[in-house]
Amino acid sequence: MIPGDGIGPELMLHVKEVFRQACVPVDFEEVRVSSDAAEDDIHNAVMAIRRNRVALKGNIETNHNLPPSYKSRNNILRTSLDLYANVIHCQSLPRVLTRHRDIDILIVRENTEGEYSSLEHESVAGVVESLKIITKARSLRIADYAFRLAREAGRAKVTAVHKANIMKLGDGLFLRCCQEVAGGYPEITFDSMIVDNASMQLVSRPQQFDVMVMPNLYGNIVNNVCAGLVGGPGLVPGANYGRNFAVFETATRNTGKSIAHKNIANPTATLLASCMMLDHLRLHSYASIIRQAVLTSLDDEATHTPDIGGQGTTSGAVQSILHHVRTASGWSHHS
Ligand code: ATP
Repeated sequence: MIPGDGIGPELMLHVKEVFRQACVPVDFEEVRVSSDAAEDDIHNAVMAIRRNRVALKGNIETNHNLPPSYKSRNNILRTSLDLYANVIHCQSLPRVLTRHRDIDILIVRENTEGEYSSLEHESVAGVVESLKIITKARSLRIADYAFRLAREAGRAKVTAVHKANIMKLGDGLFLRCCQEVAGGYPEITFDSMIVDNASMQLVSRPQQFDVMVMPNLYGNIVNNVCAGLVGGPGLVPGANYGRNFAVFETATRNTGKSIAHKNIANPTATLLASCMMLDHLRLHSYASIIRQAVLTSLDDEATHTPDIGGQGTTSGAVQSILHHVRTASGWSHHS
């Protein structure tokens, strides 16, 4: 468990309490990573994940005023563990009021290269070159991940998002890799969409999308658009998978520092991320009890926090979730 900054630590306390009451057989090793300490912290966290193979994390703040040599701790963690696939599932929730209904999109984002190479230099004063790296190997790998996921989840269509009309070489390669992989999945429809049009289509008719696959930066933006479509950063969980390790966090990777310590953060996304972790550990029955408790408690609007239009508190929402966990576990009469 890496609590992170902002609302991370308080939400992780709630995760531990929910796990305790649901008798989840998981012990957390807690590793604190602070954004302003030396890089040692994050290397310790990486080592802990190598040992435990799986982590639940809050976001670590990255101040953009720091010197270019300062690397995002979150990014170091993902690249050192080669967590190449970021996966989020944006699904409309019945009780959360949003402009669009019936959204059910799986977004697969390449998580290790593209615009996040951290390779930038000022060639002459006033001219900066920032390298976007697209490789065939990693494009094929993420495309294959998306199609395998689509097949496992019984999905009908994969849409590749790109800007190959402008970045003909880089995004062109990405798109060709997706096309090549699509050939091996004849039962799944493949299509592609330029990122600008995809953004417009998402906010006007999001129901047309099923599984989406894209390079790193478009994935970041599309993830945030889609999380917003289904109710915001407090609701949607996210996962980062590699061959050997997996790290679970919220989909939009916020710190939420402006709402820290106010007892108003929505605990849904972090708790659902913990359920994705339990599924990954094959503790499916615990995952489904907690997930169901989180979703059922949203039926009661008194538990809604301000981000989704309510007046509830974090602890109120968690109390309601704990109640549903106890009921589902059959111990309601003991408490
Ligand atoms: P700043 O923009 O100054 O860094 P912040 O750290 O709070 O503030 P972000 O972490 O980028 O901002 O979060 C974006 C927005 O999403 C903020 O308005 C934040 O309050 C909101 N937010 C993020 N997570 C949650 C959550 N779990 N519950 C409710 N609101 C959230």
